[in-house]
Amino acid sequence: MKKLLYILTAICLFINNLACSASTSILFDSNQMNKNQSYVSTVGFHLLNSNGIEKRAVFFLDNSNKINAYSANSSREIVITWGMLSLLSSPDELAAVLSHEISHTVDSYNGIFRGFFSHFNYVLSPHKYEYKADKRAVDYMVNAGYNPVAMIIVMNKIFPQGRYDFWSHHPLSTRRMMEVYEYIYKKYPEYLVNNPYKKNIYYQNFLLTSKENREKFQEKIKSDSKKKVKYK
Ligand SMILES: [Zn+2]
Repeated sequence: MKKLLYILTAICLFINNLACSASTSILFDSNQMNKNQSYVSTVGFHLLNSNGIEKRAVFFLDNSNKINAYSANSSREIVITWGMLSLLSSPDELAAVLSHEISHTVDSYNGIFRGFFSHFNYVLSPHKYEYKADKRAVDYMVNAGYNPVAMIIVMNKIFPQGRYDFWSHHPLSTRRMMEVYEYIYKKYPEYLVNNPYKKNIYYQNFLLTSKENREKFQEKIKSDSKKKVKYK
């Protein structure tokens, strides 16, 4: 009987300790999560307000380690995972991710039945909407006071490089980065002239890996051609 009592006491102590340590870690994590959630919401709402976006969106931080960000078409929730957030080094980089998702959310309001069928447009031509979201995101960033070069930095840091893009929802990362680069070059050249990210390792790597594509782009500029460059 005494033995049983000892065992029960030991089990109780063990459970109690477990509950105690669990609650401490939850408390710690929830504080950190609250701070991170508030950071995500602040940058997100700043983007919405600075761009005068009259459609609602909300921003949530998902506690997952997966590297992901998405906008839910039906509920207009923009979600970024902890795995993704932990790879972003500045508000500029977070603004790049959220701006792209805000663009998808804005499109989700278009069309009949309050945008009920808007997702079909995306499914039919995802590349068109991805490029559109990237370029519109650059505008959103500039209007809100963020540096749009961070868009290239985030892409180069995070996006994998597939072989072909025709069966993927997303265009080839090298093409996406070049389209963003070209857009900034033409519309907001001052960010490339006075570029505080010049020495950033991800930007330097972009310059290294985009050499051929940038040469093609420079040829187009020189020849004043209106033809679209097909980047690799
Ligand atoms: Zn997208």
